[in-house]
Amino acid sequence: MCRATAHPSGLARLARITRCPDCKGELLPACRVLTPAGRLKSGVLFCPACGGVKGTVRNFKYDFVHFDAQAAGERLRRSGIEAPPSVLPYEVAEEVVAFDDPRLTLRGAWESWDGRYRLSHGAAGDELAFAGEFLDVSARLLKHPWSGRARFLVDGVPAGEVDLYQPKWSTVTWFPIAGDLAPGPHEVRIVPTGGKHPEAAGSQVLFHELIVTRPGYAGAASPAKETNRVLPVFPAVVELMKQAPADGLILDCGGGDRALGDPRYINVDYQQYQLPAVYGDAMKLPFESGVFDLVFSQALLEHVANPFAAAAEMARVTRPGGVLWAGMAFLQPVHAVPSHYFNATAWGIEELFKQLEIEEVSWFGELSFTIEWLLKESGAAGRMEAGEYAALIERLKSLDALVPYEALRAVASGVAVRAHKPA
Ligand SMILES: [Zn+2]
Repeated sequence: MCRATAHPSGLARLARITRCPDCKGELLPACRVLTPAGRLKSGVLFCPACGGVKGTVRNFKYDFVHFDAQAAGERLRRSGIEAPPSVLPYEVAEEVVAFDDPRLTLRGAWESWDGRYRLSHGAAGDELAFAGEFLDVSARLLKHPWSGRARFLVDGVPAGEVDLYQPKWSTVTWFPIAGDLAPGPHEVRIVPTGGKHPEAAGSQVLFHELIVTRPGYAGAASPAKETNRVLPVFPAVVELMKQAPADGLILDCGGGDRALGDPRYINVDYQQYQLPAVYGDAMKLPFESGVFDLVFSQALLEHVANPFAAAAEMARVTRPGGVLWAGMAFLQPVHAVPSHYFNATAWGIEELFKQLEIEEVSWFGELSFTIEWLLKESGAAGRMEAGEYAALIERLKSLDALVPYEALRAVASGVAVRAHKPA
């Protein structure tokens, strides 16, 4: 039942293993807000060696990238570094308030959309509200080419405005709205403004869900639920996770919008997705050296401006005797624009990690997969007649059998390396 109490979870150990991303010195958590059990819910992370604020903790997440340095500095000046923590009157838990939750109040002309959204076209008077006891609130809204702008209000006070337009595809995107509100009842409102980006085809607001932090008991009896909104974890990594020590730590470097139920697991990502525990830069990892039994990264290194620096950091935080697994793009077209810099061959990824003992270099993604992606990304797929395209793909797939694994090394979609750090 209480398997998470057997070992302190990775998330509970963050306070001990996070370090200054610049000098790797110990950080001093100031302006602390603790739960009665002593969990650090929020604070300012000050580096005595550098003499500056390097990050914050917000609603249990460590943020070395997106925090408001000026606001954190002012908080620190007001309270002083040594101020005693404030302790919440109760433990807290996260609750999702979904688009169809009866506690939501919808005013104006909202419609249901796609079985998972409430849709406003941005008409005056449209408003979505939720009232209850909560300390933090965030929302997941859809960005797409028809989306406009929305304003957030908390207890009637403006709490930010967002532009939901994105030129291509659609993405459910996470927006923190407010945090560390005073214990007691609050109300949050999402108001479509009717405004839009000049390129947007409409001023829609598509609401998926709210996430609130409310009184409750999280932690011991309820290990984090597994949610993965990005690439599945590679089978090779799943195997390595099984072999990692039961009380160990596992780092998913650039895991994206993913949280695994495994209590050893910590995801650090640069982007402000909802699920990472830490927002940090792979080229300046905010962790103590040698603390992770397994470090893995999938489809990250092609998105890092200096992959050698990121590889060195991943090797640094791996414990002596620990294992590293990294996979990255080889023959993949440009994706995640504009943060796509360097693809690598099988020899290239080996070069990145040669400070470790390389155990295996491998490659994946069949020829048909690569060509299909090229056809889609170049627009050729969209311009072909559907039947003709389907026949072409079927023909390509039949060619995969003609490319044995050794030959695939020259034309694979991705490459991977498994290595260990000398003990
Ligand atoms: Zn420092």
